[in-house]
Amino acid sequence: MGTCRLLDEFAQRGGYELYETTVFGEEIGGAYNRIQLGKVLAGEAPDTIVTKPPEWYDQHGIRLLSGTRVKSLDTLRRTVETEDGRSRGYDLAVLATGSQPLVPPLEGMRGEDGELRPGAFVYRTIGDCIRMREYTRAGDSAVVVGGGLLGLEAAKVLSDRGLHVTVVHVAKTLMNAQLDSTGGTMLGRQIEHAGIFVRAGRTVEAAYGDERISGVILDDGTSLPADLLVLACGVRPRVDLARASKLPVNKGIVVNDTLATSVPGVYAFGECAEHKGKTYGIVAPVWEQACVLADVLCGTNPQVRYRGSKLYTRLKVAGVDVASMGSLEPELESDQVFQIIEERRSAYRKLIVRDGHLVGAMLVGNTAATATLVQLFDRGDPLPEDPLEALCQFRGGGAAANADRQVCNCHKVSERALRDAISNGADSVEALGESTKAGTGCGSCKTELGQLIKSLVKPAPALEVAS
Ligand SMILES: Cc1cc2nc3c(=O)[nH]c(=O)nc-3n(C[C@H](O)[C@H](O)[C@H](O)COP(=O)(O)OP(=O)(O)OC[C@H]3O[C@@H](n4cnc5c(N)ncnc54)[C@H](O)[C@@H]3O)c2cc1C
Repeated sequence: MGTCRLLDEFAQRGGYELYETTVFGEEIGGAYNRIQLGKVLAGEAPDTIVTKPPEWYDQHGIRLLSGTRVKSLDTLRRTVETEDGRSRGYDLAVLATGSQPLVPPLEGMRGEDGELRPGAFVYRTIGDCIRMREYTRAGDSAVVVGGGLLGLEAAKVLSDRGLHVTVVHVAKTLMNAQLDSTGGTMLGRQIEHAGIFVRAGRTVEAAYGDERISGVILDDGTSLPADLLVLACGVRPRVDLARASKLPVNKGIVVNDTLATSVPGVYAFGECAEHKGKTYGIVAPVWEQACVLADVLCGTNPQVRYRGSKLYTRLKVAGVDVASMGSLEPELESDQVFQIIEERRSAYRKLIVRDGHLVGAMLVGNTAATATLVQLFDRGDPLPEDPLEALCQFRGGGAAANADRQVCNCHKVSERALRDAISNGADSVEALGESTKAGTGCGSCKTELGQLIKSLVKPAPALEVAS
């Protein structure tokens, strides 16, 4: 996804007049929206999530070598060595190798060849989704290990396909990296309400079965039958290529504020990169880095620097709207906490306020105020005297007051830009996506885009023809 964005940013800056560009991709085909992999797992054609088909590369004069893994770079001779034994020269190399799923060393998980046994899957690529959906049918049982974003998403899709699904999560509450225990509990209730079983505070100790996996044993000794085992236990930066190329690697590939490694001519960005000790696991920082790197490499703004990303996530987790930003808990004694708990709806909203400014927020089940909160958090604007009013500002502020708020967080599209696009004729969510990119990232703002169109597009006047 990072490379896809970098290629677009290059196009906007005339980068293809400066560089002859080759993209090496281990996966087959062009770029696709990994965030929407759930659609492929659900049964849709992979093409529906492809963002750059091979023709796009041809049209832009870019050589796409898909299905080609790069083994190493020889950074002295400036050559790229690929797995098929070929070697190609380069002037500048950019690594955007992403992340790889963590596979816990569970007993019975791997066969004698070291590969995952039939029935065990990770959830990272189109290939994983196709293999998983071909392996299962309605009525099968699935155990998903990991109650974070990916695990819950996989669980929902599989449950919607008629599987009996249990999520096993090591922490006491779900999505504990983004939600406090109340938020995680509310989310857990909604997930169970959707028909998915949750075993929180438990770990899988071993997998069993003969030819293929047929169940797992939990740490309390319980045995759960499972035709399918989905491992969604987190990711770590993919650094095998960087290591083989003797690039500086810590948790990720170490880069500075221009996304350069210490080896001249080699840059890295995206989930594989480590900047100021931090690696990222969502797409917004990856895209911010792509913009900086394009400015540096195309010379359009060579003094620009990447200073790190403020993290906020707005997600549709298994059908439940969730947003989270900044701190999960107060950190200073003077921090104030505001919470609204709606027991009946299993909805939850929480703000953490420091000196009149928002330092953390989480919303479960009712995320209407996300855009306002993201703006307050991102810019550090002062909160209203009663901070809870920030949860309602999106309704009472009026069009002018809200015009600057960011509706699409992935592509940083403001309400003003959307209003302009609508008045220029974009009258559907798809048309808004084409003209502004809004809604084409994680897609969690699409409902809001629809509402905005509805409120602004006047129905065509009825035509009465007298005959
Ligand atoms: C199922 C799923 C749902 C997600 N949902 C969300 C969401 O809702 N919101 C959000 O913000 N983020 C989400 N993410 C995370 C998001 O997809 C990532 O942040 C994003 O893809 C990172 O982009 P990247 O370019 O760094 O890495 P990737 O998109 O992983 O791309 C890296 C590519 O490099 C290739 N590669 C690696 N090594 C080599 C090599 N040696 N030679 C050739 N090719 C190589 C890999 O095969 C891969 O195709 C989700 C991820 C998954 C898997």
